[in-house]
Amino acid sequence: MTREKRVRSSCESMMKNVKRRKTRAVRYGDVGVGGGFPITIQSMTTARTADARAVMREIRALARAGCELVRVAVKDRADVEALSAVCARSPIPVIADVHFDYRLAVASAAAGAAGLRINPGNIGGADKVRRVVDAAAAAAIPIRIGVNSGSIERDLRSLARIDPAGALCESAARSRDLVERMGFRELVFSLKSPDAMVTVEANRAFAAGNDYPLHIGVTEAGPPLSGAAKSAVALALLLREGIGDTVRVSLSGDPVREVTVAAAVLSALGLRADITRIVSCPTCGRSHIDVSKIAARLERDIIGLHMGGTVAVMGCEVNGPGEAKDADIGLAGSCGGAILFEKGRVVRSLKGNIAEEFIFEVRDFLRNRGD
Ligand code: SF4
Repeated sequence: MTREKRVRSSCESMMKNVKRRKTRAVRYGDVGVGGGFPITIQSMTTARTADARAVMREIRALARAGCELVRVAVKDRADVEALSAVCARSPIPVIADVHFDYRLAVASAAAGAAGLRINPGNIGGADKVRRVVDAAAAAAIPIRIGVNSGSIERDLRSLARIDPAGALCESAARSRDLVERMGFRELVFSLKSPDAMVTVEANRAFAAGNDYPLHIGVTEAGPPLSGAAKSAVALALLLREGIGDTVRVSLSGDPVREVTVAAAVLSALGLRADITRIVSCPTCGRSHIDVSKIAARLERDIIGLHMGGTVAVMGCEVNGPGEAKDADIGLAGSCGGAILFEKGRVVRSLKGNIAEEFIFEVRDFLRNRGD
């Protein structure tokens, strides 16, 4: 089964408990967003796009972790020049993120970007927006209109002080009207604030009156732990109401963490059965193995395979055998090593490099379990 079919069928079976909002569909290369496609995970690179090697290293790491769409910043001609090589080599569709200079968006579309992200409020007037829209239409790629509380139009700032969600919504509606008058509808919208509840309210309001797909997330959510918690709150509230077609968790630091958090949110909500669930104990003085190291390897190397299932890593004999047996494949620390379980049965003992051996076994088991 191809990855796309596996993702789609697992999502259809798990999403029965959430009635998703009906939206139009757009395509970023071979990845669909909205229109009933599975909710995708996206992130953004941190290296300068002009440094194509560094960007490609990040994109490959993101894709391995389960990222399905990646955005890169395009802020000058050097970035545009590197963009075509990045797009050609990337294993996942690349979206060009452009502010202020419409010519960079036009050039990015020609360079092979699978989509554009702009904020019409800062791109320089309707004539410039028209040039970007024409370039996207010629390249047959979608545009995301990303409205952020930090860059709201000047005349909406007083409204933003008393009704920040309303101001975001009004800003998005203005951009929608402008682009629709140009006859272009391959659009995705995002309405973001660093405040989780403002983000939720703005997206609820916009979703109520529009059928465009929504990219959801809390912008500038913060450092990894508090930012993950804040993002999870907003995403869970919206996704449980069926709002949201692609998600980005925005954290300071390594973007791979953003993908891991987004995957955990979608998995916990039962929205992506193809994302492997990881059960691991917090460890204590009884642990025989390095649980946190093995769990981190699972997050890094297994979730992006989209093979579903549940994997458990437990430190000792107290709760270890129980959880390891309940998982599809599990590991429980024991004197002198660890015990490997598959489908509730003891398979063998692992000794030596337990982390490496277990990752190998998990990959092999999930690939061959035949469901
Ligand atoms: S499974 Fe064992 S090592 Fe892990 S937290 Fe429980 S008692 Fe501690």
